[in-house]
Amino acid sequence: MSARSIEGRDVATGRTLRIAVEDGVIRSIEEGPPHAESWIAPGLVDLQVNGYGGFDLNDGQVDPDVVFSLTRRLAAAGTTTFLPTLITAPEERIVAALRAIARARQADPLVARAIPFVHVEGPHISPEDGPRGAHPREYVRAPSLAEFDRWQRASQNLVGMVTLSPHWENAAEYIAALVSRGVLVALGHTHATPEQIHAAGDAGATLSTHLGNGVSPVLPRHPNLLWAQLADDRLTATFIADGHHLPADTLRSMLRAKGMERSVLVSDSVALAGMPPGTYHSPIGGAVELHPDGRLCMAGSNFLAGAACSLADAVARLAKSSVCATHEAFQMATANPGRFVGGRGVLRPGAAADLLSFRFEADTSAIRLQSVLTEGVECLPH
Ligand SMILES: [Zn+2]
Repeated sequence: MSARSIEGRDVATGRTLRIAVEDGVIRSIEEGPPHAESWIAPGLVDLQVNGYGGFDLNDGQVDPDVVFSLTRRLAAAGTTTFLPTLITAPEERIVAALRAIARARQADPLVARAIPFVHVEGPHISPEDGPRGAHPREYVRAPSLAEFDRWQRASQNLVGMVTLSPHWENAAEYIAALVSRGVLVALGHTHATPEQIHAAGDAGATLSTHLGNGVSPVLPRHPNLLWAQLADDRLTATFIADGHHLPADTLRSMLRAKGMERSVLVSDSVALAGMPPGTYHSPIGGAVELHPDGRLCMAGSNFLAGAACSLADAVARLAKSSVCATHEAFQMATANPGRFVGGRGVLRPGAAADLLSFRFEADTSAIRLQSVLTEGVECLPH
């Protein structure tokens, strides 16, 4: 038995709350003291994490220790639920990473709580330069249900989300088969036609992965795959809101088109996220430079080499911008992604106590975390 209470202003409503936590669960929510200076939000939910704090899920060396460390670093940055995201790679490498994550979940209740399932981004994406992004072309391949079933057998059904390009001939059939197995299908890294986008929606796809990135730099003005995804209400879009991947006008317009309910923020962070600024060697792309503002570029160029902000950094940046309101930025990083992982990211009695208390720094508006609870357990190092 463990009990504590946490007080602050609810970031969604501005009301002050006192939340009683017992045995990992929110027992009650009452009105708190009017002078509360801290803010409260549900723990952040990130549907796309390739790495963070120097820990990499895609370098071919994942073992359970990497997963333990990554989970703790993310929790200390405010992300209490995340989907480890494995990109295009040979089947053996995908399977080895899945096995390592499955072993980490079995060994550690914090990891089991933080990782509801795994997101495989690829390998059935566009082979074309541009939409393929940084995924290695030699491992791009057509959808194969036999391979999907091998992933699941190796990991006790740990894959719960797959991002693919619906241009493949057998895409609709593959999507329907995954959806019938309870797996989320997202569209991304694609050069598909608008017809193929809508056919994927017919087959059961429900997400667009980092809409506006992983797409050709040149498109016909209309029709094209961006308009098709913006217009299709069956698709919830994820966005990389680090301030570098999408210009403010683009993100603002896309949020209006999808509506706040169908919009989700992801970090898409790579291993260098959360590290000090400097020049590093990356397994994909060689020498890269991490700038103080979180922009990660190929060294000596302006080309992005991945996203290097935590989800909390992205939320803070968006909250400070004119793109959306603060409570909307949080909604897109808590309740909205939470709907895809069994209803997380909400404050209500009976829910697991995944909670943040924090302040906004006066000069930068960055989020300074004071407490991070995962099922009631404090995750901030002291
Ligand atoms: Zn991607």
